Amino acid sequence: MNYMHCCDNLEQTVSTFNVSDNGFNFNVKVTYCKNCGSKKATGSGVSDGKKANENFKLSVRDLEIIENALNAKVSRLDDIMSLKSKCDQYDVAVKELFSLLDATEETDEGRVHRPVQIVCVRTDMLIKLENVLATLKSTMEED
Ligand SMILES: [Zn+2]
Repeated sequence: MNYMHCCDNLEQTVSTFNVSDNGFNFNVKVTYCKNCGSKKATGSGVSDGKKANENFKLSVRDLEIIENALNAKVSRLDDIMSLKSKCDQYDVAVKELFSLLDATEETDEGRVHRPVQIVCVRTDMLIKLENVLATLKSTMEED
């Protein structure tokens, strides 16, 4: 078998691996035929060992990029916190609304009635109003 014709179905492939030893990182490149495993590159395919860079030197530009990214995160967090605060206020208001609408009183004659009522004299609007109230109530009861 020669270089090009290791087998009936030469399919050359290159795989790269990282191997570490004694704090050195080696890149190992293996070129071979996918079908028979025949080696297809001369030389070891192994790079010189390199130590990982553990001493980072940041430039002013690098610091600016990091600072901008952090500021963007803080600003998004502020947005979320202000939305949360608004949500909490809505929640309190909706609970208060339903506690008023659901409140009952009993007359001296023993008749139970609701002192707070929403009056609507248009049928189509009444349906919409009931939908709004149902949505508010189900949203309120989710938590
Ligand atoms: Zn082959």
